[in-house]
Amino acid sequence: MKLDASASLFETARKLMPGGVSSPVRAISPLPFYVARAKGPYLWDADGNRYIDHCLAYGPMILGHRHPAILRAVAEQMENGWLYGTPTELEVQLAQRICGLYPSVDMLRFVSTGSEATMAAIRIARGASGRDRIVKIEGGFHGAHDCVLVKAGSGATTLGTPDSRGVPVDTAKNTLQLPFNDLEAMERVFKDNRGQIAAVIMEPVLGNIGPVLPEPGYLEGVRDLTREHDILLIFDEVITGLRLSLGGAQSYYGITPDLTTLGKIVGGGFPIGVVGGRRELMENVAPQGGVYQAGTFNGSPVSMAAGIATIDFMQREQALDRVNATGERVRRALSEIVADLGLGYSVTGIASMFKVFFGERPKNYTMALKCDKAGYLRFFHRMLEAGVFLTPSQYETDFLSLAHHEEVVEKTLEAFKSNLRG
Ligand SMILES: *Cc1c(COP(=O)(O)O)cnc(C)c1O
Repeated sequence: MKLDASASLFETARKLMPGGVSSPVRAISPLPFYVARAKGPYLWDADGNRYIDHCLAYGPMILGHRHPAILRAVAEQMENGWLYGTPTELEVQLAQRICGLYPSVDMLRFVSTGSEATMAAIRIARGASGRDRIVKIEGGFHGAHDCVLVKAGSGATTLGTPDSRGVPVDTAKNTLQLPFNDLEAMERVFKDNRGQIAAVIMEPVLGNIGPVLPEPGYLEGVRDLTREHDILLIFDEVITGLRLSLGGAQSYYGITPDLTTLGKIVGGGFPIGVVGGRRELMENVAPQGGVYQAGTFNGSPVSMAAGIATIDFMQREQALDRVNATGERVRRALSEIVADLGLGYSVTGIASMFKVFFGERPKNYTMALKCDKAGYLRFFHRMLEAGVFLTPSQYETDFLSLAHHEEVVEKTLEAFKSNLRG
């Protein structure tokens, strides 16, 4: 595969940007490919190579690339200008749609990224409760701000230590970590920190260590325990929102969180984040209340237009039924391929998320760490050579879009079949 143009761009980029990239996951070693254009299920790089895209920008592109309905909505909005610094009808329309799909969300604030949404959700929970500590799940990812870039100490009840240089120890110590699918550990931490925990923030399906699913009863247990201990429950649905169902994981599993964060799909591929929840919680947000949140690009008209077009198209075309059926088909076929290989690999996922784990199917972070990461990386590169772009890490989810039709799926499965064995 010829990568001369990418190699030349990367050489220049490394002098201009740390690691040559704008976000760490993109630093595919030894060389990231530079994308020139995208359409449907495909990416084309600067050297003209074509890839079937299962990364899909790490989630947002559920309708596939350059979807005509989104293109039309955005182009129409651009004709009217693209940033006003005032309220618009578009944000009212998108807010109505989101509140309709998420009964737990009475009010919301639009921000520009998922990271900003979780940052605001945590601030709202702290502001409303007057407590500083938060609980997160080990391996859960909520963006790249200080209080969620924290690793667990030596035990579930130990105070967190920073996971990144530059995060103050004083900040990290307020973030407690718990293993997923472990209600006993949660109850213990709640009892040990009585009256001090503002909220639990969790992805209902862990999407950032490969999809790790909640065991039956786990999310119900989390909801019961948080209520019992008067602790707010934040569902970070930046990946699962508008994916597991239009109403997200909360609708799929029938759990009502206190606060919800959305991002990725809800902007149709344009920058967006949403934090929403119960009225009396959201009334704490400025200017109505004393929890400050603000942003130049909040409610950006183009993102609003793309979000409205995405939701309307998905509803009209019952897009999720089709994407999720493709997901079922892919996971079933991969399970057969993996079983035939007899290497002890496993297949996980839900809806349009899937992953082949080079090891036993994990139920939490500790288990996920045991898979053969180096083996996955070698496999990832073989797939790239075969024209299939999976997420570059064992710990990121692979995605499907509405544009991944039968012929594309067949190609992907063929590539898995011939490349899984080293
Ligand atoms: C991607 C992601 C975020 C961060 O969103 P950005 O838009 O990248 O800031 C937060 N939470 C989850 C679950 C995510 O997958």
